[in-house]
Amino acid sequence: MNITPPIGRIMDTSRQPCGYSPGDTDANTCMQPATWHIAWDADLENGLACDEHMIYAKQFAYVDRHPVGVDCAMPGSTWDFEEKRCGYPGSSAPAVAHAAAGQPGEQG
Ligand SMILES: [Zn+2]
Ligand SMILES: [Zn+2]
Repeated sequence: MNITPPIGRIMDTSRQPCGYSPGDTDANTCMQPATWHIAWDADLENGLACDEHMIYAKQFAYVDRHPVGVDCAMPGSTWDFEEKRCGYPGSSAPAVAHAAAGQPGEQG
């Protein structure tokens, strides 16, 4: 099975448009701002969709999705399945701060 969904073309995500593009041509590309970030497979082949085309995308199997956030477009950010967002594990990202907040002064 190697069905390529119509959403998921590789693109510059810095402007975060919806990736819906029948025939994969510029003329048919939906240019609405994306609201959903979709991971299509375990390799995190991913795409972006607006609300309208998220409904369409649901016809296809996907691994995970989350609302588009600022980190989705950042180079090197990784998909966080638990937090339902993109981010930077191991950096001073919000995820680290909130993990540390629960246990003050337990070192030593
Ligand atoms: Zn769209
Ligand atoms: Zn994302």
